[in-house]
Amino acid sequence: MTPPRQELKLLVRKTKDLLCGFSSVGLQEFPRVPAAHASPAAPGKEKGLDPIRREALACRKCRLCEGRTHVVFGEGSLNASIVFVGEGPGRDEDAQGRPFIGAAGGLLTKMITAMGLTRESVYIANVVKCRPPMNRPPQPDEVAACAPYLAAQLTTIAPKIICALGKTAAAALLQSNLSIAQMRGKVFAWQGTPVVVTFHPAYLLRNPNAKPDAWKDLQRLLHLLAP
Ligand code: SF4
Repeated sequence: MTPPRQELKLLVRKTKDLLCGFSSVGLQEFPRVPAAHASPAAPGKEKGLDPIRREALACRKCRLCEGRTHVVFGEGSLNASIVFVGEGPGRDEDAQGRPFIGAAGGLLTKMITAMGLTRESVYIANVVKCRPPMNRPPQPDEVAACAPYLAAQLTTIAPKIICALGKTAAAALLQSNLSIAQMRGKVFAWQGTPVVVTFHPAYLLRNPNAKPDAWKDLQRLLHLLAP
């Protein structure tokens, strides 16, 4: 059993980590933390996504397969209420086969923590599963070739809400050419599931002044999820 003093120290450290997460996303006030948003993954969902994952790991449907080290399929809870969708893997993600693990991934993790959630309780995926050369945006034919994998992920997980991170994700999900400024603050839908659009964490790293706006988007998302 943990001694009370040690337990208190642990609690203080956890609170400190959480507050660091808040300030890193420009948070000025505490959010209304929703109830737990994930439960253990249903075996049926795992079985449903396994063949799709296997197909993606061997996929050569577009030219992005040529330069990849790993296919970055996605990760998280298959029972997640929120799925975050980014653009595509960067250098770190390509090297390790996991989404959002570089500097932008660190910020996304802090944003998720500031929402009162954990990375493990949400699902994180990208529009394209292989790294575009020099981190260029994926081209329309590449997005189209990879779209069935993202669609299968979203259909299997059936989240309550989707958060599109940046213009590429929003455009791919919503088939829209609107700018981020035009899409922020509105609720769209992907096959009936609400979609909220916010900035990509990589953009926020380059433009920290936009962090408070991103936090407003995430608060809106939490509000939509609240019972
Ligand atoms: S980006 Fe998608 S469609 Fe293209 S090779 Fe990779 S997994 Fe296949």
